[in-house]
Amino acid sequence: MALLSVRDVTRRFGGIVAIDDVSLDVQPGQIVGLIGPNGAGKTTLFNVITRLYRPDSGRLDFEGKSLLRTPPHRIVRRGIARTFQNVELFRTMTVLDNVLVGAHSRTRPFRGGAARGHVQEVLDYVGIAGVAHRPVAGLPFGTLKRVELARALVAEPKLLLLDEPAGGLNHEEVSELGAFIRKLREDFDLTVLLVEHHMGLVMGIAERIHVLDFGRKIAEGSPDEVQRNPAVIEAYLGADASAA
Ligand code: ATP
Repeated sequence: MALLSVRDVTRRFGGIVAIDDVSLDVQPGQIVGLIGPNGAGKTTLFNVITRLYRPDSGRLDFEGKSLLRTPPHRIVRRGIARTFQNVELFRTMTVLDNVLVGAHSRTRPFRGGAARGHVQEVLDYVGIAGVAHRPVAGLPFGTLKRVELARALVAEPKLLLLDEPAGGLNHEEVSELGAFIRKLREDFDLTVLLVEHHMGLVMGIAERIHVLDFGRKIAEGSPDEVQRNPAVIEAYLGADASAA
């Protein structure tokens, strides 16, 4: 059974159709890429999966049960955590307190010291233990992304949604990130759904890739299949490139 099953989901904003009849499955333990040009609907789909947006139509099942009956604040308890494209943190709070927010979203609330101890371990794991007591405001973007990742991990999700984790990283950092995401999957027993524009990263770590363009799913397959698909080449490079 798929861990996450998205069926015929459509979401409009006024007259704009952001995603149109999109279906995809995410199997347990996989790293799955969700790619597509700007405005293709990738973030909208993340927002639908995490219930920030209600779909206009379609079905959404997690572990065989509908997500649509789960209120947005219970999504983390169902086992889904995420990071955001532009980083969404409480800027005046410390790194530690931001990550504690993730711990408090768990089914079984941590109490006092236990929560802090667990958060410290995760901060150490993602390499930011040294800034635990610094306010988030003013920290570099790459560090903020790690804070978000730590916040997601302490919630002990089954499914981790990463929205453009490579944004703002240099070449070397991106290649380290690929290995790190694989390690995360092993160490935290995760399934990962990854939105990313950095093709080298997605093609290097995803086992399956879904491609959106103008809100519709235009392709699905292994990285090799997707890279050879004329509809994908056309979406990224224009019709001339796919004919060449
Ligand atoms: P990018 O790679 O640039 O982040 P994306 O694939 O994540 O793009 P979305 O942000 O999901 O694309 O946007 C898909 C479409 O829906 C775009 O046309 C966008 O303008 C529109 N859209 C998304 N969110 C809203 C909103 N809250 N209100 C109005 N239109 C929206």
